[in-house]
Amino acid sequence: MHYTGHCHCGAVTFAFESEPIQAGLRCKCSLCERKGATMTAFTVAPAVFKLTVTDDALAHYRFGDLTATHFFCKRCGIYPFHQPASQPDSYRINIGCLDQVNASDLPFEVYDGAALP
Ligand SMILES: [Zn+2]
Repeated sequence: MHYTGHCHCGAVTFAFESEPIQAGLRCKCSLCERKGATMTAFTVAPAVFKLTVTDDALAHYRFGDLTATHFFCKRCGIYPFHQPASQPDSYRINIGCLDQVNASDLPFEVYDGAALP
């Protein structure tokens, strides 16, 4: 499927190809608990991820061992995706930012990121 998404203000837009999204993933790490987003259960390879940023709006945050990269829009503060520590070249997408899916309608699994070192 072809999915499109964007942050709240539209400065960060993206598109990717993937399997149909039928469930999400929520993480219990100290950062994700605060964000509360439902993410894709799969990751998106960089080869099929198309990102467009205007006004240099995309910033990132790292913590812990600094391998995961959590992106956010500098204008509206929304977190559209991150690059997970397990696959630092790929993207896990915030389903709430997608045009084709309503994150609140999806079941989700919980990943215990808090238990990681
Ligand atoms: Zn924005």
